[in-house]
Amino acid sequence: MLQIAHTIHSDHDLGLVLLAGLLCAFGSWVVSRLYRHALDRPRAQAMSWYFLTAMTAGVTIWCTHFIAILAYQLDAPASFHLSLTFASLIIAILGSTLGIVVAGTSGGGARMVLGGVIFGLAISAMHYTGMVAYRVQGIITWDMVYLGLSVVFATTLSVAALYFACRGGRFNVLKMTGMLTAAILALHFTGMAAFQVTPLAVHGHYDNPAEYTLIALTVAGTALIIVLAALFSHFVETRTRNESIEELRKARDAAESASRAKSEFMSVLSHELRTPLTIVIGYAAFMSKLKNHTASKIGPDEMITAAHFDSIGDQAELYGQRIKSASGHLLTIINDILDYTSMELNNLALNKTPFSARSLLEEVADQFQGMAREKGTVLHVQSADLTLTADRGRSLQILINLLGNALKFSKATEIHLRGRPAPGGFCFEVEDNGAGIAPQNLARIFDAFTQIEDAEDRAEGGTGLGLAICKKLALGHGGDITVDSTLGQGTRFTVLFPSPVAETQAPALPAAA
Ligand code: ADP
Repeated sequence: MLQIAHTIHSDHDLGLVLLAGLLCAFGSWVVSRLYRHALDRPRAQAMSWYFLTAMTAGVTIWCTHFIAILAYQLDAPASFHLSLTFASLIIAILGSTLGIVVAGTSGGGARMVLGGVIFGLAISAMHYTGMVAYRVQGIITWDMVYLGLSVVFATTLSVAALYFACRGGRFNVLKMTGMLTAAILALHFTGMAAFQVTPLAVHGHYDNPAEYTLIALTVAGTALIIVLAALFSHFVETRTRNESIEELRKARDAAESASRAKSEFMSVLSHELRTPLTIVIGYAAFMSKLKNHTASKIGPDEMITAAHFDSIGDQAELYGQRIKSASGHLLTIINDILDYTSMELNNLALNKTPFSARSLLEEVADQFQGMAREKGTVLHVQSADLTLTADRGRSLQILINLLGNALKFSKATEIHLRGRPAPGGFCFEVEDNGAGIAPQNLARIFDAFTQIEDAEDRAEGGTGLGLAICKKLALGHGGDITVDSTLGQGTRFTVLFPSPVAETQAPALPAAA
C-alpha cells in the first residue's frame, strides 16, 4: 500500500491524477446508470443498452489509464507505440462488452461472477497492453507481486460492482460506481507500482513535455463528450418511456372512466325506462279490470245507468292519458339514445336551410310557456331579426334541450332566450338566474350519460344525453356550444353557428288587384 501511495505521490503529476480520478468516477457513474437501466429492460431491448454501457465503460477505462499515464513523470523521455495504444482501447471496449453481456444476461449467480472476472481481466489487459505501448528510455522491471495484486484488485472489485448493480436496492448505482472507480484506479496505480524503470543515458533532469497536459485535457474532454452522449441517450430514453407510460395511464383512465360512465348509464337507463313502463303496465292493468271492478260495485238488484258508463269512460280517459304521457316520455328517452348512438356512428345528416332566428326562439318559448308558468318562471325572448342558414329542426332540438334543462334543473325565476350575430356567425344564448353548476361539474356536463344530480335528486328524469347531443349537433354544424355558470347565480349556454347571416326579408305583400 505504502509503495502504491509513494508511486502516486512521487512519480505523478497530482493535478492530472485528480483529473483521471474525476473522469473515472463520473464515467463509472454513467456506466452504472446505463447498466442498471439495461438490467430493467426486457431482453430484446436490453442488448443495445449493454453495448452502450460497455462502450462507455471501455472509453472511461482507457481514458482514465491514458491520462494517468500522461501524469506519470519519469526522469527519462517516453513515447507511445501508436497501434498498440489503439489496440488497448479496442481491448477495453471488447473486453467490457463481453463481461457486461455475460453478467447482464445471467440474472445473477455464477455467470454474474464470470462476467465480473472477464470485466476485471479486460481492464487489466487494457492496462498492460497500454504499458507495453508506453516506450521509455530505461531498463524496465516488473514486480510480479504488485502485478498479480493489481489483477486481483481489478477482478474482485469488478465482480463486486456488477453484484451491487444486479442486487438492486437503495444506492445500488452509487455502490456500483464506487466499486467500478476503485477497480479501475486500483488496477492502474497498483500496476504502476509494479512498473519500475531505471532511466538510461539521459543527462540532467528530464521533465514530461508541456504538451502532455494538453493531450491529457483533450483526451479527458473527448471522453467526457462520449460519456455525456451516452448519459443523454439514457435520459432521452427514460423520458420517452415515462411519457409513453403516462400516455398509456391516461388512455387506461379514460377507458375506465368511459366504462364506468356506461355502467352508470345502464343503471340510470334501466331506472328511467322502468318508471314510465311501470306506469304504462299499471294503468293498462287497471283498464283491463275496469269492467269487472265497476260491475263488482253494482248491487245485484241495481240498474245499470248512464252514470255507470260515464264513470267507466272518465276513468278510462284518465288512465289512457297517463299511459299516453308515460309512453311519450319513454319514446323521448329511446329517441335520445337512438339519436346519440347514430351520431356516435357519424350518421349526422344536416338539412341546412335559411330561417328566421327570432321565429325559432319564439317557437321554443311558446312550447315551454305552460311549464314555465307552472314553475313560476318568466321567459324572455330577445333576438335580432336575422336569417341564418342551419338545420332548423336540429337547432330547435338544441334550444328545446337547453330551455328544458333550465326549467328542470335551475329553479330560475327568469330565463332569457337571445339570438345575436357573433364573430364568424350567429349565436343563441339560453341564460337563467337559477342554481348554477359547480365548477368541478362544468367540465363534464357535455359528456354522454353524465348527470350531476344524485340518484335521489333525479326527480326530473333524463338520461344525461341531452347536452352531449347538443354538443354533437353544434359541432356537426361546424360551430360549438359553451357554458358559463356561477353557483347560486345562474348559467348561460351559448350556441355558435358559423352561418352567414342576413336581414330577414319582410313577407311580400299580395299584389294589388
Ligand atoms: P339530461 O339529458 O339528463 O337532462 P343533460 O345532458 O341535458 O342531461 O344535462 C346534464 C346535467 O347538466 C343535468 O343533469 C343538470 O344537472 C345539468 N344542467 C344542465 N343545464 C342546467 C342548468 N341550466 N342549470 C343547472 N344545471 C344544469
